[in-house]
Formats: sequence, structure tokens, C-alpha cells
Amino acid sequence: MVHIFDTFQLGRPKIIAVTALETQDGIALFDVGPESTWNNVLRQLEAAGLRQEDVRHVFLSHIHFDHAGAAWRLAQSGATIYVHPKGAPHMADPSRLVESATRIYGDRMQELWGSLQPIPTERIRIANDGDVFQAGQFRVKAVDTPGHANHHNVYAWDDNVFGGDVAGVTINGGPVIPPFVPPELHLESWVESIAKLRALQAARFYLPHWGLVEGGIPAHLDQLEARLHDWAGWFRRRLKEGADEPTLVREFERYEAEDLMRNGRDAQGVKDYELADPSFMAVSASLRYWKKYHPEEIQG
Ligand SMILES: [Zn+2]
Repeated sequence: MVHIFDTFQLGRPKIIAVTALETQDGIALFDVGPESTWNNVLRQLEAAGLRQEDVRHVFLSHIHFDHAGAAWRLAQSGATIYVHPKGAPHMADPSRLVESATRIYGDRMQELWGSLQPIPTERIRIANDGDVFQAGQFRVKAVDTPGHANHHNVYAWDDNVFGGDVAGVTINGGPVIPPFVPPELHLESWVESIAKLRALQAARFYLPHWGLVEGGIPAHLDQLEARLHDWAGWFRRRLKEGADEPTLVREFERYEAEDLMRNGRDAQGVKDYELADPSFMAVSASLRYWKKYHPEEIQG
């Protein structure tokens, strides 16, 4: 049995999800949300007749705060934390992670994400590409899927996949968008990761932003890939034309909002997408990507 719990990020429903799989060896969680919202998730666990101590396994898609922030609390109550080899050192010592997030979010850190504490290394299991972990009766396989971040795994069990951020963001059945964030956005890797997701031939996708995608998974992935290329091309063109960062922040916010509204979102719907995946992050991510990997493509 799978539960999808809502973190109610900043009081809004369906921004960040926590996926819970009941197994014969306790609960396996796929992502845990920020630490600031853990109590909201805990209340829903308890309403389902479960306790925090029942959580034995925590599979992290990646270590961004909206996915991994509360992991240290679960480690404290005895869960094993499974994480990509490139993410594991930052779970054991989150100081650099906190530093770089504070550069982006400043004094909104507490409100958005809460606090982060080190996870003892004996509670951490490194999840390498292809590793299979037993969670009760389920065999959970890690698949290395860079593109959104270089410390990203998806997890597959039976015909289910927990897709993390590389599998896209779709809220309330809305358009599927690729969350571009700095500093590791890498488009070629992302396209390869989408091919890996297709090859898994899942019947069900569970997404952190947000919830269950059932059926239509090839169409979901087609939409994700199409927007990835569309956004990449938009940034390449505007950078080549010499647009500066503040201009791009304004323009891209409007570009994305118009796309979402053409596809049935209202103003609140657009805000919810902004909350799950802020458009300004796509600007610094894209600037860095094009400058670093294809500078010749953006020379005016
Ligand atoms: Zn992320």
C-alpha cells in the first residue's frame, strides 16, 4: 500500500509530496520534504495509524532541501537513509549545503526549509546506480539519473517508479515542466535520464511535485522532454541576443506563466508552480549551463 502525504509547504497543498510504501519491514519513505514541514507529514502518518519509529527506510531522490531536509529526523528515530554517492557526504556534513542555500534564500531559510543536522554515517547507505535494496518484500532499485542534479537517483520497485525531480513537475494534472536549477543543470544528461525512465516501463510514477502519475507515462515523458528543449532553446536565443540576468528573470517568469495559462492554469495555479519550482532558478541554471558547456552557442 502506498500513501501520498502532503507537506503543505508554506500552507499550500500539492507543492511537495512524501511517498510512503508500507512493507513487511516497516515504512519506506521516498523523499521526506523540508524539515520545516515534517510535523505536517507526521500528523498524516499518525492519522494512517503509523508512527515515526515505523519508518525504517528513507530513499532520497537527491539532497535538495525540499526533498531531503527532514531526513536527519528520520535517521534519529532509527531509519536508514539511502542516498546517491555524490549526495551522501553532504548528508553527513550539511554545512556547505546550508551555506550555498543561504546565499540563495537568505533570511527565508527557516521559513522555507527549517534546520539541517548531520546524519551519522552508520545511518547512511550509499545508493549506487543499479544497486538493489530490500525493503520488506520489495526490491528497490536505484537508477542514477543526472540532469537536474548530479546527485540524483530514481527508485524502481515492481512496476512503480519514484521519479524525483528529473521526472518533471506536474501539479493537479497541469503541464509537465523540467525544474532547471543551479549549479548542476546538464541538458544532455537529463535527456539520457529521460531515456532511462522510459526504459523502466513503469505503470505508475510517484513525483515529489506532485503525486501519482498513472497511465500516460510515455506522454508525460514526451511533454517533459519537449519543454526541456523548448526552455533550453529560449535561453540560448535570449543569451545570444545579449539579455542580462535581471531581464531574463522577468522575461522567463512571464514566458513560463503564459505557457502554463495557455495550458489551463489560473493565476493561483501559476503561483503553485512557482512555489514548487521558482522560475528565477532556471535563469541562473541556464546561464551557468550555456557558459560552461557551450559558450560558442551564446556568443552574439
Ligand atoms: Zn531538486
